[in-house]
Amino acid sequence: MPEPSAVPSDIDLSRPSAARVYDYYLGGAHNFAADREMAEQAIAMWPDLPLIMQANRAFLRRAVRFCVAAGIRQFLDLGSGIPTAGNVHEVARAAAPDARVVYADIDPVAVTHSRTILKDDPRTAVVQADLRRPDLLLQLPEVTGLLDFSQPVAVMMVAVLHFVPDADDPAAVVAGYREAMAPGSFLVMSHATHEGQPQRADEHQTLYQRTATPMSMRSRTEVRALFDGFELVDPGVVYLPLWRPENLDEVDENPERFTGLAAVGRKVT
Ligand code: SAM
Repeated sequence: MPEPSAVPSDIDLSRPSAARVYDYYLGGAHNFAADREMAEQAIAMWPDLPLIMQANRAFLRRAVRFCVAAGIRQFLDLGSGIPTAGNVHEVARAAAPDARVVYADIDPVAVTHSRTILKDDPRTAVVQADLRRPDLLLQLPEVTGLLDFSQPVAVMMVAVLHFVPDADDPAAVVAGYREAMAPGSFLVMSHATHEGQPQRADEHQTLYQRTATPMSMRSRTEVRALFDGFELVDPGVVYLPLWRPENLDEVDENPERFTGLAAVGRKVT
């Protein structure tokens, strides 16, 4: 497979990146040899990984549809990744053509490809930013220009907070966004967990030490605590396929094999 063309000149191609490894799991083409090598190693250890990533994307789509049905028309997608089928703006606009979306990611390849795809779309914006700094991110002109935080917004943290170690205080990071969100806003989150398959989870975390964003899987109790200040929408914090499945085919009889937890919280006041 040829290397992707629009590659920022300042990236280290010898080091795998979480964004590009994930792209490979999902069958995308925006990844390099180091990413593919790490992804293949991970899949050899844990053949369910591509399935888990697909379940994560399916949760994202269901959660966006849920938010649109609840009246949300603006989305901030943090750690949005490399564009793939069913991006937030595509899913939202199927029901709400006026939906506005800001995509934010720390990875330069994810940002470059997002910008290429969205350059002619005035109701989307893409920023390269570190979600750990809500104070800076929320002040970026692309964000303030497109999103009105005095109105309800959906803040998406899908498969990203496990890249924020305890030392960087993920609860404080979430609180930084929560304080800016109007009542009626939603927090959408999925998060890797070691519950269910602890040994595989440990091996997986070890692999991610190679990337710039090592992984910190968390327990259900820890994930629930990240929703402090939000009211959890039914069914609460559950394995990925169990969050409001739209058809029963999505529900596996061993949901713990998905090792990802999903939840949506509503900011009430
Ligand atoms: N949210 C997408 C999804 O669920 O399909 C992509 C998830 S991907 C596993 C994680 C993404 O988070 C990567 O694109 C990575 O670059 C990004 N990321 C990791 N740490 C980040 C940070 N501190 N700020 C912004 N993005 C970050």
